[in-house]
This record gives sequence, C-alpha cells and structure tokens, in this order.
Amino acid sequence: MTDLLLTNVRPDAGTTGNILIENGRIAAIGSNVTGPDGITVVDGKGAIAIAPFVEAHVHLDKILWGLPWHSINVPDSLRAMIDNEVEIRRSLPWSVAERAGNLMRQCVANGSTHIRSHVDISPEYKLDNLHGVLAAWEKTKHAVDLEIVAFPQLGMLIEPGTAELMEAALDEGASVIGGIDPASVDGDAKGHLDTIFGIAHRKQAKIDIHLHERGELGLYELGLIAERAKALGMQDKVIVSHAFCLGTASRDELARMMDLLAEAGIGIISAVPGDIPFPPMFELADYGVRCAVASDSLRDTWNPHGNGDMLERCWLLSWRSNCRTDAELTAALDMGTKRGADLLDLAGHGLDVGCDGSLVLIEGENLAQIVVDRPKRALVVKRGRIVARDGSWIDGGGA
Ligand SMILES: [Zn+2]
Repeated sequence: MTDLLLTNVRPDAGTTGNILIENGRIAAIGSNVTGPDGITVVDGKGAIAIAPFVEAHVHLDKILWGLPWHSINVPDSLRAMIDNEVEIRRSLPWSVAERAGNLMRQCVANGSTHIRSHVDISPEYKLDNLHGVLAAWEKTKHAVDLEIVAFPQLGMLIEPGTAELMEAALDEGASVIGGIDPASVDGDAKGHLDTIFGIAHRKQAKIDIHLHERGELGLYELGLIAERAKALGMQDKVIVSHAFCLGTASRDELARMMDLLAEAGIGIISAVPGDIPFPPMFELADYGVRCAVASDSLRDTWNPHGNGDMLERCWLLSWRSNCRTDAELTAALDMGTKRGADLLDLAGHGLDVGCDGSLVLIEGENLAQIVVDRPKRALVVKRGRIVARDGSWIDGGGA
C-alpha cells in the first residue's frame, strides 16, 4: 500500500492540516486536502509531522542487541578492541542477518527510514558481513533504504587482500568505500588514503572515513583527504566521521580547516561521543560545511550505550552543545533529519509536495520540546506505508 491520507497533523509543528500520499509520494498538503474513495485514512490527532530521521553512521554487523548483556572488559585501545571483537564474533549465537535485522527494525521504530551502515570487510570475514546485512535488508527494505560502506575495521594495508575485497564489495551491494585512522591503524597515512581514493574514483563510489586521530595528526590527515577530494573531482562525495581533531583545534586552525572542508565539499558526521571533544557542529554548518549526527557503534563489543534512536542523538547534541533557545534546539533536530539527508544526498527527503511520502508523527507541542522530551514515535511512514506505530515495528508493514 502506497496511498495514505493523514488528517489532523501539523507539518513541522505548523498549521494543522492533512497530508495526502499517492504512489509513495506526497501529493498534497493542506487543510482541505482529501483523498480518493477507499484510501486508508489515519487521524493524526494533532501530532507533529516531520521528515524522517536519517541514520548516517551505524554498524549493523556489530550489534549484539537482543543477546544477553555483553560486559566489555578490554582496555580502551583501538587495537585491543579490534582484536577483542574478532574473537567474540567467532562464537556469537546469532547470525549477522539476525542481529542486523534487529537493529534495522529498531531504527525504523524510532523514525529512521534511511541507514548508512559501515560493514567490516577483511580476509577474516571476507564478504560475509556484507551478505548478512543484505540478507537482513531483504526483509526490511519496504521500510528503510540502506547504503553500505565497505569498512576495513581490522586495517587495510596491514591486512593484505582487504583492499581487493573492499573493491569486490562494491560489485555486491556496497556503494561507499570506508577508511580508518590512516596513520595509526595502517601506519601509512598517504598509502591508506591513496588506496581508498583510488578504488572510489575507479568505481565511482563515495568515501566515508573514520578519523579518530586527534590533534595535529588528525588535522594533517584532514588536509590530505581534502587535497585528494579536490584533485579527483570528488567534492561532495567524501565524508569524515568523528573528526575529533576539529573539537580541539585552535580558532586559527579551525578557521583554516573550515575553509578547506567547505571548498573540498567534505562532510562531517559526529556521534557526539561521551567524554571526547567533538567538532563544533553548528559552527561548521553555519560556515557551509555539510554535517550531521549519527549513532555509530552501539550495544556491541565497543560500546554498551546507544539505542538507535536519532531523536535521542539530537538531544545529546543539544545537551552537549548547551542549546537553550527554541531555535538552537530545532537546529539540533535538523542535524538528525534535514542535514543528514543533505549530507547523504537523499533526493525526496522532506515534507513538500513531490517529496517521498515518508514521515514521522510525534505527539508534542513544538520542535524544540520534542528534542528535549523525546516522545515515542506515534507513527512512521515509508513511501505511504505505515511501518511502525507507537514506537514499535510493524511486521510486514501495513495500515
Ligand atoms: Zn563507526
């Protein structure tokens, strides 16, 4: 079913009206809008309607959601956590497809109808994680769009065969090439970046690099990334996830980097991590750098926190950024919705006539208040189909 008439809703917390979705697209919005005979009608009871959340960075293959509590007992070092995860994943009772499916349904129930997921690729895993995530998506694709990043979590140059597998992943469903801490994981910043830019340029793929490296090293690598994006004409195709180095940069360094990022069209994603300085998201956005928030690692061998709720992530950004005014809180909401869609080039995202008939209903007073109170999602609609209600996934989707 792709036709739906929602009555008595408030688009973006504005005037009450109706939204008509036909053939999966928004056909009309207004107080007098009606639908053809026989169309499914849902009374929104005055709820706020917003365009869906965008989960721009998550790891569907890592999730342990639904399994017994996993206690994390490894040192806080990247290498220790990488090795620990490989060991644990050898004996998990649930498949990647089962675990990834659980998280996808949770994301949808919380209002995200587009996910970009990094998926580990290595000689140890081969393309098994990619295949598992795609198998899970077969059962959820009516509710959520999926982009997959071929991610060299275990390292790339130090794990011979990984780059070839990442390139092969692009032929089997991935569309983005990942990277990770080029200097500290592979020990060769330029070699790492040249390899992933080479693959992406050859295969017309996008790039999304995990950059946790801090201070001068991180800023140097951001410069290398921008240099390559410009040289290869890949403006607006490259995202750097985390970019902690921007969180501690001096005013002069930050000004220089914002120029570089805006000019090279590099996007920034932050998960707003607990005790780590993170990029000044609102300042970046005001300057013209595309950016968004996302969940990243959650409930896995890396991180006990997280629940796949992007509204909560927007709240976290607002909390850590000291957003107080309604305008600031609404800007925090945009980081998980409109700005995420812009960052990932999602045509059709929005609440205008002609946009995808995808939206979220939330009972609340206004956009600022829902960021603070984070009410359950009353209804999630994907291209005219109701896919979640009252915070719960609907099996198979329906009215
Ligand atoms: Zn990540």
